[in-house]
Amino acid sequence: MKDKNAPDSKNSGRPDSTEAPATTHFIKQIIAEDVQNGKNDGRVHTRFPPEPNGYLHIGHAKSICLNFGLADEFNGLCNLRFDDTDPSKESTEYVESIKKDVRWLGFDWDGRQYHASDYFEQLFEYAMQLIKAGKAYVDSLSADEIREYRGTLTRPGKNSLYRDRSVAENLDLFERMRTGEFKDGEHVLRAKIDMASPNMIMRDPTLYRIRHVAHYRTGSMWCIYPMYDFTHCLSDSIEGITHSLCTLEFENNRQLYDWVLDQLEVYHPRQIEFARLNLTYTVLSKRKLIQLVEGGHVSGWDDPRMPTISGLRRRGYTPAAIRNFCDRIGVARSDSTVELALLEYCIREDLNKSAPRVMGVLRPLKVVIDNYPPDQQEELKAINNPEDPSMGSRQVPFSRELYIERDDFMEAPPRKFFRLAPGREVRLRYAYFITCVDVVKDPDSGEVVELHCTYDPATRGGDAPDGRKVKATLHWVSAKHAVSAEVRLYNHFFTAENPGDVEKGEDFTDTLNPDSLETLTDCQLEPGLAAAAPGQRFQFERLGYFCADAKDGTADRPVFNRTVTLRDTWARILKARKKK
Ligand code: ATP
Ligand code: MG
Repeated sequence: MKDKNAPDSKNSGRPDSTEAPATTHFIKQIIAEDVQNGKNDGRVHTRFPPEPNGYLHIGHAKSICLNFGLADEFNGLCNLRFDDTDPSKESTEYVESIKKDVRWLGFDWDGRQYHASDYFEQLFEYAMQLIKAGKAYVDSLSADEIREYRGTLTRPGKNSLYRDRSVAENLDLFERMRTGEFKDGEHVLRAKIDMASPNMIMRDPTLYRIRHVAHYRTGSMWCIYPMYDFTHCLSDSIEGITHSLCTLEFENNRQLYDWVLDQLEVYHPRQIEFARLNLTYTVLSKRKLIQLVEGGHVSGWDDPRMPTISGLRRRGYTPAAIRNFCDRIGVARSDSTVELALLEYCIREDLNKSAPRVMGVLRPLKVVIDNYPPDQQEELKAINNPEDPSMGSRQVPFSRELYIERDDFMEAPPRKFFRLAPGREVRLRYAYFITCVDVVKDPDSGEVVELHCTYDPATRGGDAPDGRKVKATLHWVSAKHAVSAEVRLYNHFFTAENPGDVEKGEDFTDTLNPDSLETLTDCQLEPGLAAAAPGQRFQFERLGYFCADAKDGTADRPVFNRTVTLRDTWARILKARKKK
């Protein structure tokens, strides 16, 4: 058996080697060159363009750090733009959550909050312009026919029979689409490009569709809505964006991005694609995250098991740790999957220095100190964080009856178990050496319910004047002073490293981990924790980092979430890689 009583220092600080934070990447190089060449008058202007159809996740954090970070670095600007062209899925709740999360991550758009829906009128004018130039037409094929006419990767598409409508007829129909004369799906506006293009996206893509659905901002003003490919490039152009950064799946869309801007002869930003973040044991797709929320697999978008920014915040992650993580993973041109252990490493690294250390017992076992006077109690000095002396110390109460961790005692210990056992002496952190003299068991179940120990008064503070050593140091709390709390422990949300592996024919919900949440209702914490503010973070000595839940706790009964354990699997991964 492996002894968990390893000194804290093993889990703190940096592992033997970590990849140095990425200092540069290909996008930075492109921008630096553009600035040097005086392109856009040396201006750098990026944007973060979420669709308000869900909460932001850690993948978005990568994009946020990249866009806002580059603007910062090049003395430029970064806009927050809501890409809100699909009224059936979007809402103000999502807009507000996104703003909150971007701010929390430490970024500011300085009032430059825009919405694609602000541009609906202008986009309509642009569409009319394309029609007039003979570059767009109203198609009246059904959705199925359009799909069929599109062809495949190996077979060219064929022209719609409506493709050669006159400009006048197209203008008339498009305007009537706008005024609501037609039903959903009756017509669409399409770009007139090339039905045989090897790039499927260029086979007369749809620019507008009819949707009789109210929009959370424009209400029922519109019943036609522009498509992403038409909206995005023009929104970038209208806002004077210089570098439009998006994820790799839009690589093929770049040709259309450029086509629209070229036809309309408007200001032309440059689209650059980068690899999206994938994380082991995690799904990062709003569509799937919505399914988890709506299917009741989690308590909400901010369930601490969710990879959303709000979930991570509630779990106890800090903005600095997330930014650091985004820095470390870098920005590349090809897709890869990052180990969840790296994210955990980043939060440990932060909290190791910033979180005060306290004592809390998750699964209490009562200990009576037989030779400690029944009415005596005392205050013992405990260090708040040995990594940072400026965090000072505090007093913790000690008395005759204590709680220790159930796991820290074994009646018949195996060879490598060094913690408490009958007849054995151990140290209570910041307190005394104690020796176990008796074990009380439940007569029916045989379960150990109480220990009797003696203490050595000469070891006050945790050291023996005669220099004798003990092999274990346990955390503890004084029973009558302890605050009772609920503590929630988390495991990987999925059992599969790659949830929903298509090649294995899995759906991502097939591999949900049934043990992802463990709720402990009888935890005993040192009394100071009664005053923990919602969201406040601590290291519970030997157990991990914990955060006071911002939603469920009350003053007399706090709830804590375990952010992460102390065990550093990232260090182990690096070590194993080195050996190879
Ligand atoms: P999802 O696939 O989760 O639904 P999305 O791309 O549809 O995400 P958007 O709201 O359109 O979500 O994303 C806003 C920005 O964040 C886009 O520029 C998008 O490329 C970027 N983004 C989304 N997911 C990731 C990710 N996993 N890694 C990096 N960037 C991402
Ligand atoms: Mg999207």
